[in-house]
Amino acid sequence: MRGNEINVGITTGEMLIEQGYRKYEGKDVDIYYNKEICIHAGKCTHGAPDVFKVQRRPWVLPDNGSSDNVIKVIDSCPSGALKYVTKSK
Ligand code: SF4
Repeated sequence: MRGNEINVGITTGEMLIEQGYRKYEGKDVDIYYNKEICIHAGKCTHGAPDVFKVQRRPWVLPDNGSSDNVIKVIDSCPSGALKYVTKSK
């Protein structure tokens, strides 16, 4: 398991939603975000500005960037506010 990837055997997307995360569904990657945990470090908005755009609704569009970069950026989120699930292609 990489930094913030969900290990589906232990943590599921449903469990994250119960913990207050919101799901943003993508083609290859689903992104989960919990605003209560975010410390506004800006790693996401700097690392993938087309995917994470604070002024836009929804502010997360998982398909607006390469899944490799989305994963890299989410793994760099220092608070754990962002999580992801990769889908098999
Ligand atoms: S990288 Fe994580 S902690 Fe930083 S702004 Fe994005 S979600 Fe919040």
